[in-house]
Amino acid sequence: MLADLLREPPTIPDRLAFATKTCVNTFLKLRGIHHITAIATDPQRNLDFYTRLLGLRLVKRTVNFDDPGSYHFYFGDRIGNPGTLLTFFPWPGARRGSRGNGQVVATSFQIPNQAVAYWNERLKEHQVLWEKISNRFDEEVIRFADPDGLLLELIGTGATEPLPDLSYSTAVPNEFALRGLHTPTLQLQTTDLTLELLTDLFGFEEVAKKEGRRRFSVGTGSASKQIDLVERPEAGFGHVAAGTVHHIAFRAANDEEQLHWREKLLELKIGVTPVIDREYFRSIYFREPGGILFEIATDGPGFAVDESVEELGQHLKLPPQLEGDRSAIEASLPVISVRRGGS
Ligand code: ZN
Repeated sequence: MLADLLREPPTIPDRLAFATKTCVNTFLKLRGIHHITAIATDPQRNLDFYTRLLGLRLVKRTVNFDDPGSYHFYFGDRIGNPGTLLTFFPWPGARRGSRGNGQVVATSFQIPNQAVAYWNERLKEHQVLWEKISNRFDEEVIRFADPDGLLLELIGTGATEPLPDLSYSTAVPNEFALRGLHTPTLQLQTTDLTLELLTDLFGFEEVAKKEGRRRFSVGTGSASKQIDLVERPEAGFGHVAAGTVHHIAFRAANDEEQLHWREKLLELKIGVTPVIDREYFRSIYFREPGGILFEIATDGPGFAVDESVEELGQHLKLPPQLEGDRSAIEASLPVISVRRGGS
């Protein structure tokens, strides 16, 4: 099922079944963004960039459960709270993808307003090319790419609630630290059906609009409850490979909420996977009508389910179904060094 969903190019339906509005849900909303997953090449370079340069914590070192010959890294705050997580499949030698329609084209993090100058300086010092783009909805945006070409943004914001747990060792002083995900940019050939799904089913509301960018939110208090839609009818579809986002996951508070969403998607005749156990959360996947792979993940059980909070990310963790193959898996994975903290 997941393999079917990953087929390209996506097929775009003419209309969604809920044009009839029979299954509009007025009570439950998605809880914001859970994580974003992207594709990298060299695992060590990926690890160093996100932990040592950007100061995120590696909260889990595991393998891609669907492809155990490759790593799956999770970066986030101290305990990997939903809304702080960026995860990677590092595939050495993977060819470079391209950004385009049907993709999350920019992955953004919150930084405190007063940290903008610090990050300009830090990125320059580490020879990361960056540009300051004109303010977006009155917030400063620094834009740059990771070593594989993934487009990243640091967005200066006021106070965020709840503040991520930043009590771990990192080279980035707390006052300048990344504070979880900010509004990612979703690029679409046409936004109509995606917009309908987001608002009529998932409870997003339009909160701002400027120059072709429309901002939607499922709650106040955190920029990780927002997404931006950008419509580019003239652009081509992106190709998902190294340096691009593989999927975006939204939060369900628990299994009941997740099953609710799965039923609603089935009612809309949107192909959705069964619930898949990802060890640290449970997931369902579907392609939204504009072609972007969406996931809905439960908040729990979280990353401390198989190692202590202090030791998160220090050891290769495998789910029970792969534990029997540990020696073969370890032998096939590239050797990496996970340094504590970093400078
Ligand atoms: Zn995911």
